[in-house]
Amino acid sequence: MSEKKNYVYAFTVGNGKNKQLLGGKGANLCEMTQIGLRVPPGFVITTEACLAYLDQQDFPAGMMEQVQAHLTELEKITAKGFGSAENPLLVSVRSGSAISMPGMMDTILNLGLNSTTLRALIHQTGNERFGYDSYRRFIQLFGKVALGVPDEKFDHQLDEVKKIRGAMSDLDLTSADLEQVASRFLAVIQEHTGRAFPEDPHEQLNIAIRAVFNSWMGKRAVDYRREFKITKDVANGTAVNICTMVFGNMGNDSATGVAFTRNPATGENEFFGEYLVNAQGEDVVAGIRTPKPVAEMKNEMPEIFAQLVELRQRLETHYQEVQDFEFTIEKGILYCLQTRNGKMNAQSMVRTSVEMVQEGLINRERALLRIRPEDLEQLLFPRLDRRAMQVKPIAQGLPASPGAASGQIVFDADRAESQGKLGKKIILLREETKPEDIHGFFAAQGILTSRGGKTSHAAVVARGMGKPCVTGAMAIRVDVQLRKAFIGEQILSEGDLITIDGGSGEVYLGTAPLVEGEFTAELTTLLSWADEIATLQVMANADTPKDAHRARNYGAMGIGLCRTERMFNATDRLPLMVAMIMAENSVERQKYLDQLLPIQRQDFIEVFTVMAPYPVTVRLLDPPIHEFLPSENVLRDEIDNLRNLPATIKGLDQLTDTLRVIDPQLAESAHNSLGTFLAGLHHLCDHTVNQILQEKQNILRKVRETQEINPMLGHRGVRLGITYPEIYQMQIRAVLEATAECVKSGVAVNPEIMVPQVCTAQELDRVRKIVDQVRAEVESAYGFKLQFKFGTMIEVVRACMRANRLAEIAQFFSFGTNDLSQATFSFSREDAENKFLPFYNENGILRDNPFEVLDVNGVGRLMKIAIDGGRSTNPELKVGICGEQGGHPASIRFCQYVGLNYVSCSAPRVPVARLAAAHAKLKEAEFGL
Ligand code: ADP
Ligand code: MG
Ligand code: MG
Repeated sequence: MSEKKNYVYAFTVGNGKNKQLLGGKGANLCEMTQIGLRVPPGFVITTEACLAYLDQQDFPAGMMEQVQAHLTELEKITAKGFGSAENPLLVSVRSGSAISMPGMMDTILNLGLNSTTLRALIHQTGNERFGYDSYRRFIQLFGKVALGVPDEKFDHQLDEVKKIRGAMSDLDLTSADLEQVASRFLAVIQEHTGRAFPEDPHEQLNIAIRAVFNSWMGKRAVDYRREFKITKDVANGTAVNICTMVFGNMGNDSATGVAFTRNPATGENEFFGEYLVNAQGEDVVAGIRTPKPVAEMKNEMPEIFAQLVELRQRLETHYQEVQDFEFTIEKGILYCLQTRNGKMNAQSMVRTSVEMVQEGLINRERALLRIRPEDLEQLLFPRLDRRAMQVKPIAQGLPASPGAASGQIVFDADRAESQGKLGKKIILLREETKPEDIHGFFAAQGILTSRGGKTSHAAVVARGMGKPCVTGAMAIRVDVQLRKAFIGEQILSEGDLITIDGGSGEVYLGTAPLVEGEFTAELTTLLSWADEIATLQVMANADTPKDAHRARNYGAMGIGLCRTERMFNATDRLPLMVAMIMAENSVERQKYLDQLLPIQRQDFIEVFTVMAPYPVTVRLLDPPIHEFLPSENVLRDEIDNLRNLPATIKGLDQLTDTLRVIDPQLAESAHNSLGTFLAGLHHLCDHTVNQILQEKQNILRKVRETQEINPMLGHRGVRLGITYPEIYQMQIRAVLEATAECVKSGVAVNPEIMVPQVCTAQELDRVRKIVDQVRAEVESAYGFKLQFKFGTMIEVVRACMRANRLAEIAQFFSFGTNDLSQATFSFSREDAENKFLPFYNENGILRDNPFEVLDVNGVGRLMKIAIDGGRSTNPELKVGICGEQGGHPASIRFCQYVGLNYVSCSAPRVPVARLAAAHAKLKEAEFGL
């Protein structure tokens, strides 16, 4: 059976949709070939072959025979011979898995060259320089990628020859120079591997295929997959693409380049790309020579430019997606060597989505679905505050990936990683970056390079990660050995603070003022399409009028959770709150509650007004009361210090005398500076001190009284409301009077009163009685009826099981999935996240953190029980979620599935949730547990 298995597909045959099998690059090479674009002929070895190879550390049976058969076919098509001394076939060997991982695995070009085929190539083309140029490139790439010889060894030799010849760039080297470079390279290989360079093209191919397969398990690739959670069902193994070489280094009618069908930094519909005349392969990306923008090709090579524009058009029309493609021009003929969906920042994704719909290229659904909801968070990235800027930039580079960031300079990726782990903010500053720097990107706030263009490695990777990046800041000279960077006279050392603006390419010394991102017109349009499609409403958790404003700006359709206790934490309220808690009896407590009432009412009026006509769900007091009191330790220290005050003052009195024994001069200066101060101290009234001491002691007593073994499960939420009904009464009155006030002034309000921590219907019923009583009073005082809803949070396991009873009293449920997850797992969140949860996640005991990602299998089932129970007695029941998971896209899909009416999350996540809600609706049918 396995003998028969097909491991190899020609570009003319392979299924362009099957990226899992052929890798993204291979599948697209097949697809492009089959839609008639000019791709050099070639074939793909499948990812299955890779997995089999990794499994048994050898090629699977039959694979190499198939490779040989396809090679023979290639020879036929191209009329060339692999290893031929007259007309040699040269190929590139390229990796490519289902997910594009920029620069993760390196391509070998010009494979098939050796001393014999080199002569043939030179003879054939009559171009000696080209021959040696190709040869030395091949030796270096093969040496580095397949034989593991460090790149620097080659670079060093090349630099030496350049120096000897006084050459500024590679282009200044003659064919004789390049011949010398090649022979030096061969010596490097001999020296480093202890073996001669393999001359036999078949041996070269064999080694190269192995190297590609092995690179799947290389550290960089493994790290990348871990960081981006690329699991086996997403990408498993790499394919190998064997592709006939075409040459961009055959003279001035040849070139190589990289382009995007639209500008990936802004999303603007303009052709964007860079090319280099007489160059090969990665020259553009590596930033060795500075490439030209494609627009210049219009003048330099007008016919080719027209072809390139046509290629751009055909790619976009076919893929209905912005394409990032690679091309080579050999003697005036344009070849496309690769295409893939363009990686863009969120801003560009949004803009292209909206514009492609307007151009009629895609429909709205596609426009929404092509954007990952979580990526919208990038849009709220900080930018430089231009108006507050005082300083001038110290360097100017290319705006490679937008957003601004400040941090300390670090010159290499390892150090970036270690500093990042310490929690430092870092800017990775390099001459240029390479794939092996990837861990430095993860750790850095931003990336700055002194070389390279907008399609350089640094630019592409940073854009993919949504990190600010400036490339090609040529005024900066980086010296990694010295760990210094030089800009003219200025010297920057490791640890110095700089700021980069990836939107403008500017670099500043020190930290610069940043402003939050804002909504563009395109985002507003896109999210309005999302809102039209979504059936889940997106609300925000917001506690103050200011938060409410922000939530509204983010497009929240109401407040799903307004935590009243946060209102009490402001400095003008906390003393009242503390006094209320300290009250010895309910009469005294009422006195302070009466003072809190107007304050809270005013807060509600403002929040209701900001959100009108959307609903605002007010949660009654939830946390244990001692959270408002100072901590026991602080109090104890304060009390000790107050007690010691007389002794301290006495000590200060004697300080001058004591010092005189030691150092008369010091004593004199103490006397001078302490004199009036001490006089003041003596005026401190014992009575005041004692009074304060007494107060502190009272508070300490109260703190000890209210202390709980397990506050999370203690005297909080509705339990507090039932034992101290006057507190809830005040809050309910504040809500209802605010409602009445709003109605009076013509504001359309939709308040909802929500009770936390309910576990039995009796609790809810008690609170409802308070509501009924206050409502009657307020209605009669104002002379009109009030519209509002009364409901409960569902955050206790018992409440889920008794939801049918609760729904007889409640008009709505709101799942408090933070507490409900704690209760379901019996994990206290802080302890779990600090102690064992990371270990659980890393070792696959739990896949996600249940406090970020809703645990659909456990907590989700409880929710389902609660929803079914609740709607069985109250079909009108409105149900939502207000835990942090309410802003998490995958969790939102579950919420859609179980039939929630709304999700509520923190304000900055509202845009994410709006798009996720549209996705959830569009992909509803695919959802399964
Ligand atoms: P990556 O995944 O790093 O982009 P590629 O396999 O696309 O690697 O190869 C990098 C570059 O090498 C390509 O952009 C192209 O310029 C060059 N290249 C690859 N194969 C060929 C080929 N058959 N002929 C000419 N150039 C090639
Ligand atoms: Mg590359
Ligand atoms: Mg490529």
